[in-house]
Amino acid sequence: MLRNSCLVCDSKEIDEIIDLGSHPFADTFIPESRKSEADKVYPLVCTLCLNCGHVQTKYSTDPNERYSQIDYSYTSSNSNFSRTHWDSYAKEISQELNLSKGATIIEVGSNDGYLSEQFNKAGYKSIGVDPSPYMVELAKKRGVTTILGLFVKETSDKTLSKYGKVDLVVANNVFNHSDNPLEFVKSVANILKDEGYFVFEQPYWVTSIRTEKFDQIYHEHVSYFTVRSAKTLLARAGLSIINAKIVNYHGGSLRVIAQKVNKESQAEKMIKEEEKEGIFKIETYRNFMDKIKNQRNIFLERVYKLKQNNKPIIAVGAAAKGNTFLNFYGLNKTVIDYVTDSSPHKIGKYTPLTRIPIVNDDVFKNYDEVYALILSWNLKDQLLPILSKINQNIQFISPEEAK
Ligand SMILES: [Zn+2]
Repeated sequence: MLRNSCLVCDSKEIDEIIDLGSHPFADTFIPESRKSEADKVYPLVCTLCLNCGHVQTKYSTDPNERYSQIDYSYTSSNSNFSRTHWDSYAKEISQELNLSKGATIIEVGSNDGYLSEQFNKAGYKSIGVDPSPYMVELAKKRGVTTILGLFVKETSDKTLSKYGKVDLVVANNVFNHSDNPLEFVKSVANILKDEGYFVFEQPYWVTSIRTEKFDQIYHEHVSYFTVRSAKTLLARAGLSIINAKIVNYHGGSLRVIAQKVNKESQAEKMIKEEEKEGIFKIETYRNFMDKIKNQRNIFLERVYKLKQNNKPIIAVGAAAKGNTFLNFYGLNKTVIDYVTDSSPHKIGKYTPLTRIPIVNDDVFKNYDEVYALILSWNLKDQLLPILSKINQNIQFISPEEAK
């Protein structure tokens, strides 16, 4: 189904800006038992709202298919780096907001419950909400009470009648997954105390464009927020930004703190910078598409040369964004021998559509000469020493070289 109007301001003046071709769901890894089934693909196209500047995907997909068909494999605590991030997130937020002990928190998109567990350990009462039955089970094992479901009006009413109004709602890398962000943010306001806080974090669209990274785009990411579009959306639910900043996660994320009060913040300054960079101009994206296609051509030439000489190429990091990369580049199992990952939820499975087997990093031990392509580029600094220790002959290749 086509999205014909802006999810933030309802305007029908939306224009296509990015077209990455047809892609499967990026965050669904395929178990052996379903290996021969055909994965559904949908056009991966982004539009820009000419009225409010919001960027969203053009084709809507069924959220039930996205999250519950196959065990959703992404766990928010899948690496040391991510665990450290969520540990300090819990500390920073509770200090910055001066949360009193026993404060109630609802974490929307609580995934495996790792962050809620950190809040609970610090003396707060954090309850999760998540649409994946598999993740709800994992969270329960951590002792985190979790409500199964997508965060819609009905779910927020349910939490309201059970837990009352809360001091804090957190939603990390989830708000941008919502098919109805307006209903989402209204549902947040519905359960928030008058002086309560709403904190959300997600990849910052401006960083993606600035660094010419297209791989944060996938069907599960419906919205691509700027400070400007976040402000417009929050205002429709009676919330305003009291703090916004860029944090080092997923290669550059935007963390926003909002409240039911009207307060001046540095958000205005960030919006001016977004405008100055041309984030709301069609032309910016024409240049962006030219650059990423050019980079693809140059890198593929290198890859095919290696393949002609029968060199093994192994990709590192079975992440959703890696799937956008592999599919946009047309790299499947005939070119990439394996994708490595450390998550036990992914090893033994296959990448969607491209059907590359996912194995442990130890596979690198089997080669004298081997090439590695890091898909989880945001973890590059952590990964390089680990991989070089496994096999010091690994040669790293990257499309960045083509820049
Ligand atoms: Zn709009």
